[in-house]
Amino acid sequence: MRLTDDRYATERSQFELALRMIGHEARTRTIRECTGLSDDRIRKLYTTYFRHTGSGGVRRRRGKSPRQVMRFVKNPENQLQATVLVTLFCSGRLLRVDSDNKVSPCWPRPDVEFGHRLCRAFETYLLIHDAPELSFEWAWNLIHNIAYNDELYLAACASCSAYYVQDAYALDDKRCPACEIESQSRYRAAAGT
Ligand SMILES: [Zn+2]
Repeated sequence: MRLTDDRYATERSQFELALRMIGHEARTRTIRECTGLSDDRIRKLYTTYFRHTGSGGVRRRRGKSPRQVMRFVKNPENQLQATVLVTLFCSGRLLRVDSDNKVSPCWPRPDVEFGHRLCRAFETYLLIHDAPELSFEWAWNLIHNIAYNDELYLAACASCSAYYVQDAYALDDKRCPACEIESQSRYRAAAGT
């Protein structure tokens, strides 16, 4: 009896996560990695719950997840939003930052709990930003790029000491996106534009 209960609870958690991730327009492959459900079951869930939501509803994402790290650093606004997401990943215990500012994963590989924590972090990010620049798939890429691929790192701002997400292959001028946005708006105010 206990075994059946446990199995039911596990399946329910898998399905809840799959629906939550479909709602965020996650790709099938990303959903499969977290839930362990087959592509076929994910497709059936999508068809059952989301297919008839109309043109303003959930779009189905196929293919590979976008990869370029430039998306996270292409301007101060995106860089600030990526930094907020990394902070939320840390507070959700998906990532940890060592004393030398190195970012490491707290999870050996994605699973259902990882997926729910990622959804929670992403949902908080959506609440914070009026114009979110990063989709769920970009959030998925961000966590992998900064934790496993070493393409991004946490740099420190020379003026306010805040840490921010930076491209490991770019020159760093030691100015965080918040200070950069502030200096740009001061410059615009002085120029009268
Ligand atoms: Zn700063």
